[in-house]
Amino acid sequence: MPDGPVTPTSLEGVTSLYRRFRPGRFCEMRGQEHVVRALRGAVANARVSHAYLFSGPRGTGKTTTARILAKALNCERPVDGDACNECASCVAITKGSSLDVIELDAASNNGVDDVRDIVAGAWHGTPGSWKVYIFDEVHQLSKAASAALLKTLEEPPAHVVFVLATTDPHKVLPTIRSRTQHLEFRLYPAETLASLLRDVSDAADLAADEATVEAAVRLGRGSARDALSALDQLLATGAVAEARPTFDGLLEGVAQSDAVATLTALASLVGEGWDPEQLAESLAGEVRQVFLLQVAPRVADAVDADRARLADWGERLGLARTVRVLETVGRAIREMKSAPDKVVILEVALVRLVRPELDATYEALEERLGRLERELRAAPSPPAPPAPPRRPIGQGAAPVPEAAPSVPFEAALAPAPAPAPAPPAPSDDAEGDPALDDVRTRFAERVVPRTSRAAQLILRSARVEALEGLVLTIAVASEEMRQNTEMISQGLRGALEHEFKRGFTLHWTVDASLAAAAPPAPAPRRAPAPMRDEEVHDTGDDDAEVVVVDSAAEHLITEMFPGAEEIS
Ligand SMILES: [Zn+2]
Repeated sequence: MPDGPVTPTSLEGVTSLYRRFRPGRFCEMRGQEHVVRALRGAVANARVSHAYLFSGPRGTGKTTTARILAKALNCERPVDGDACNECASCVAITKGSSLDVIELDAASNNGVDDVRDIVAGAWHGTPGSWKVYIFDEVHQLSKAASAALLKTLEEPPAHVVFVLATTDPHKVLPTIRSRTQHLEFRLYPAETLASLLRDVSDAADLAADEATVEAAVRLGRGSARDALSALDQLLATGAVAEARPTFDGLLEGVAQSDAVATLTALASLVGEGWDPEQLAESLAGEVRQVFLLQVAPRVADAVDADRARLADWGERLGLARTVRVLETVGRAIREMKSAPDKVVILEVALVRLVRPELDATYEALEERLGRLERELRAAPSPPAPPAPPRRPIGQGAAPVPEAAPSVPFEAALAPAPAPAPAPPAPSDDAEGDPALDDVRTRFAERVVPRTSRAAQLILRSARVEALEGLVLTIAVASEEMRQNTEMISQGLRGALEHEFKRGFTLHWTVDASLAAAAPPAPAPRRAPAPMRDEEVHDTGDDDAEVVVVDSAAEHLITEMFPGAEEIS
């Protein structure tokens, strides 16, 4: 789709760049081509759905697109499913004075009465025109309000279109989702934002130089709204306030197991004026990207500017600890909802994270035992360490018991001992290298069960092929699995080292015959395919892009991270 012209609206001079340069027709929209194509096609062929779910990050054009859809439906002189943006109906919608477009911000009007009042009007339409109801942040509707909305969606009046916009489609009732056509809005690529900013700068005579445009694109992080408001600020003041908290200091503290540094970083963020709940949510969001970049980079939606930094954190924290950060912060978010002093909850959670002695969850216990084992191994003639309890498959973290921690708080705040050094090379006193048969048996019986759930998914059907010195060749059932071995290698090496007291080098091969021999996967713990509605449903347009989350990655994520929707 060619880039449309940039036309300032009549609001020039009063409002922000984002409002002034909001596209008024489909042909003026940048990016989101799959959405535009589907909607234009539906209008042109008179196959418009009664309900759409627009999901995507903030500032990616969801509400704007909903208004353009309303214009296109009611335009007096439509062209190929697009609005003219000049007739009386189009102008009224631009000005916000049209009676055919009703908007409700579910974040502030989320009660059942708000929805009932609005929906009641749906039955009294103006003859010949379409009524378009736009529900912004629809996931924030109360339960009763959602039920009222659902009732209307079950028997939609003719000539009514509901557009439900949300940044979080998984929080929308599944019964509502299933009655909508789901269109997914994506973050804008940097080039798209840069060309938009250049055009806006030209049209508004702003003379923004290339460095300013680049800075605004970086600050926009894929959002047109944020990029334009950053451009506004940069041009007005030459500087721009950081629009999001930065967690590098805090994560550094976590990575170093340094409670003082972690709490100092938190205190400085709170001192900058960030609300503790918002901080916890943002932290969970950022660590979630760190997690996704480790297990399924294609699903991660971190913008390009952030990816390298977040991937770096993934390497430093490791997968196990990343998951623990997510689980701990997720738990804290839930506890904060009902707590009077929210920052204390977050502080305690972070201290538990860096001082596992204070934490009685399975993950923390594993971390403590791991540390203990390393210390014992470093000591001369170590006694056999007790096997750590295996985390039961299919269970989440154990609840935190009421019992008071046994470690004094001052001691807890002292920096943790330096992390144990990398796995030692096989020492002189080690017995001869293990035999292949022995390795095979213990691999299946003792090593695999110690690995993560993700690793077990792959290793359940794998076979130890060969052992030369300490180079272990393992065959997996498919090329797709082999591509995922990188992320499980570190954990597997740890489990091997634990079992054999040696550092192995792993070599992966593919043996398709293993797929047939693989034992059936265990039944999923939840109803399967919660993400099926990510697809763009039948749009009547063969070119419409179908967005399907990679199924292997999806499987891994639902397996490994069942709480995703609770903390994202
Ligand atoms: Zn028109």
